[in-house]
Amino acid sequence: MTSPTEELFGSGSATGRLMARLDWAATPLGPVQSWPQSLRAAVRIVLSSRYPMLLLWGEQFTQLYNDAYSALIGDKHPGALGDDVRTTLAEGWDVLAPLIDDAMATGVASWVPALQLLLDRSGYREEAYFSVSHAPARDDDGRTVGVFTVCSEVTEQVVGERRLGLLRDLSVRGDGRTVDVASTCARLVEAIGGHRLDVPFAAIYLREGTALHRVACTGDGPVAAVLPDVVVDGDPAWGLWAAGGGAITEVHGVAQRMTLPAGAFDEPAATAVALPLPSAEADQPLGVLVAGVSPSRALDEAYRSFFHLLAQQVAVAVRNARAYEEERRRAEALAELDRVKTSFFTNVSHEFRTPLTLMLGPLTDALADERHPLPPEQRERVDTARRNATRLLTLVNSLLTFSSLEAGRARSRARQVDLPELTAELAGVFRSAVERAGLSLEVDCPPLPRPAALDPANWERIVTNLLSNALKHTFVGRISVGLHAHPTELRLTVADTGIGIAEEEMPRLFERFHRVDGARSRSHEGTGIGLALVGELARLEGGDVRVDSQLGRGSTFTVALPWSALHRGTDDTGAVSDLGDTARAVAQEASGWLVDPVRPEPGEEGSPGTLPDDGRGVRILVADDNADMRAYLARLLTAQGWRVDTVGNGRQALDAIRRDPPDLVLTDVMMPEVDGFALVRTLRGQPDTEALPVVVLSARAGADAAVEGLDLGADDYVVKPFTAADLVARVRATLEGARRRQRTPDAEDDRPEPPRSARPISAAPSPAPLATGPVEPSSAGAATDSTPSLTGTAEAAPAGAASDPAPAVARTMDGALSDVAPAVPGHPVAGPRRAAGPAEMPTTVQVPNGHETASGVDTGWSYPSKATSASAMRRDVRSSLEALHVDPDVVQDLLVAASEAFNNAVEHAQQPSRPEVRVRLQVGAGTARLTVRDFGTWRDRRSAMDRGRGATLMNAFGDVRLMSTASGTTVTIERRLTDDQG
Ligand code: ADP
Repeated sequence: MTSPTEELFGSGSATGRLMARLDWAATPLGPVQSWPQSLRAAVRIVLSSRYPMLLLWGEQFTQLYNDAYSALIGDKHPGALGDDVRTTLAEGWDVLAPLIDDAMATGVASWVPALQLLLDRSGYREEAYFSVSHAPARDDDGRTVGVFTVCSEVTEQVVGERRLGLLRDLSVRGDGRTVDVASTCARLVEAIGGHRLDVPFAAIYLREGTALHRVACTGDGPVAAVLPDVVVDGDPAWGLWAAGGGAITEVHGVAQRMTLPAGAFDEPAATAVALPLPSAEADQPLGVLVAGVSPSRALDEAYRSFFHLLAQQVAVAVRNARAYEEERRRAEALAELDRVKTSFFTNVSHEFRTPLTLMLGPLTDALADERHPLPPEQRERVDTARRNATRLLTLVNSLLTFSSLEAGRARSRARQVDLPELTAELAGVFRSAVERAGLSLEVDCPPLPRPAALDPANWERIVTNLLSNALKHTFVGRISVGLHAHPTELRLTVADTGIGIAEEEMPRLFERFHRVDGARSRSHEGTGIGLALVGELARLEGGDVRVDSQLGRGSTFTVALPWSALHRGTDDTGAVSDLGDTARAVAQEASGWLVDPVRPEPGEEGSPGTLPDDGRGVRILVADDNADMRAYLARLLTAQGWRVDTVGNGRQALDAIRRDPPDLVLTDVMMPEVDGFALVRTLRGQPDTEALPVVVLSARAGADAAVEGLDLGADDYVVKPFTAADLVARVRATLEGARRRQRTPDAEDDRPEPPRSARPISAAPSPAPLATGPVEPSSAGAATDSTPSLTGTAEAAPAGAASDPAPAVARTMDGALSDVAPAVPGHPVAGPRRAAGPAEMPTTVQVPNGHETASGVDTGWSYPSKATSASAMRRDVRSSLEALHVDPDVVQDLLVAASEAFNNAVEHAQQPSRPEVRVRLQVGAGTARLTVRDFGTWRDRRSAMDRGRGATLMNAFGDVRLMSTASGTTVTIERRLTDDQG
């Protein structure tokens, strides 16, 4: 049997059970038995609801509620049961009272979706939000005696949305892509300052060197006064240093340091957090965000993760601002560089222009002087000079135009011109060159329906550049120039049936200095500004340029000028001078690209030349894509009595060599189709041309270029500009070297005796034992040592070491043996004559031959310090010894010993001061002496006599001595010429 109380409160809920036990008689409601039906019914509704419900009944607003509601009031439950709501919710009553009064007075239910309530339910004055509905509760007579309150807490949603709003604000206001770091930080704290309910105050610190500096801070009141400006090593203030090291730090006792009303109810801020600002790559945070914690909200998990996000957001904004700042600095630096470059071009071009003009004047006068006409030979020289000065001037003018276009200074001086006539005339300037190239030139420039005005000088540049490009890249077919009126614009077209342009090159075609790599052309010359200039000039004239092209088919360049641009005001003052000069200079230059392969330059038909001592003509093939350079070289070499053929590129050179091998090839490096390096590589890769002497000529100065040339197997490398005497000497030395090798073929080679040159250089009948070479004792670079040498003649005595102080040989046979003479790599040098040191190498005039005497030889060579040089060394030593009829066994012994010494010099010399190994051979007085000298330091000084596996071997074949100094090591091998010593 259940009591009426139990029956009313039931036993299903904890709150119901508490209510059943409550002494209701002690409350304004009185004993349960006395409660009216209406109250009982209301209690049943409240207890049966799973939704938070509160029933206030009677004048004392006595509270009855269910389990769900009890959870909302925290530690006010269960004290609130049966108590007056005005006591229980005293702190929020001023907000609640009007709502309750209203519902009771009007009898109409109310609804407030997010009512802010101050609640002291967890030991602090909390900012909470509820969705609340108040409905009247009536007694048995229908009078309103209380209120039904149905509510749910929405604090998480309200606060969560608010915090999200701040993060959103930050991402917008803190966009660092438009401002610097300092202003970005100021904006960030300003955005944070607008959300004081969640972040009562904030400051951003950034790391600069070893300190953290405050960059921005909310408000300028107590916060700025209290927070430190700078924090250095280990300072505990505000947890900044710890956070700077990466640890999120809570700071308590804030209220004691400053009075800052905060939170929903203006209470003093008590806590703050110091949060690391993560950096993108460095392991150290880039700074710290200090943020106040609202006194009205517990620092719970949600609040912490909000702070975490806040710090991330600030860090991202700062990083973006930094990246932007960096980018802007770079862009400014580049812009500055560009400005400097443009002004440099302008200045330098001006500087070039004056002397060039002063050169051109006298040259032109000299050519035009009828009273004192130049003799034909001088005329030709002066004409070459004038042509090339004009070429340089054209280039300088282009650069100057470009600079002023870039700087925005270029002007178009428009005047009325008969454009079809001008265009046809300009095209006509190219006619002879185009036709000589085997192409046809079609010009279609009908009269225009209306007048046109533009700057004729600019037009000349446009037409000239396009025509010269077309000629450069067209090998069969035609070039067409057209000028046609269209309804809205005038179009100039320059079309060719040339190589065409690849699709991927199109976007960069009109960029300054852009050239298409590997494009087949008549000339390698060019700077890559032609098309850029066309584009700029077309724009200056109010139009534009475009290109249609198909690889292998040809290209059509179209310059389109709107009629509106051609109807400008004109400036017809002053005559147009020099119109056509540019076109003529460019056309003349283009003519230079057109040379019939393997034809001597006009007027350069070489007389059958002779080497001084062989009585036969020597033929030299010159490969260069510049016509003037070809003519100059041909003239120079022909004057030496050599016969000269010329070709315009490497491919033609290969064809010519195949047809009729020359004695020497003199080739430029930069040439179209097959360049100089590729030519050397090809020649060295074919058995019948591998030994053909090649001298490379290049404007690429610098050791690397020379090494590249020589590495590929060129015999010599001459840098432009060169002197005539230097070039001739180098060519002569190379011819002599080849002739010597020719005389004494290398039997060591694995191949069956390949010819030393594709076509043997005629030489004295081989062998020429002890033939007297061009001995020039008086020209020896150093004082001649008068001590009798191996040869027994004063002239043949080797010179004392002139520049290298290291005495290479400890004990000499005759006290006269000097260091091995330096030499140009791969070239024989005369022993007694000291050639110039490596610094002057490129201009060293070679002593063509070793110093041979009737009784012996004293000669030397220098080789690149590479294992592969050994065979060349053997070949040179062998041929010298064989020329002296040295016993083949002795030759063999010496070669084995020399190989070992050479290999050691290559292998063991550490950090050589010169990348070469010098070998000297002295034969005389029944003894052969070989000296091998390197310029490195020993790997191991301990084993002085042991330079590896070869030492024993060397000793077995001769008397070996070794001398090492700081500047290198010299190994001397001596061997009696007759085998009587065993
Ligand atoms: P440059 O002629 O000095 O190299 P340009 O600016 O005149 O410089 O031309 C840029 C590049 O465009 C050239 O290197 C060439 O490869 C390509 N080009 C220009 N005109 C033609 C053409 N008519 N046919 C094929 N290629 C062309």
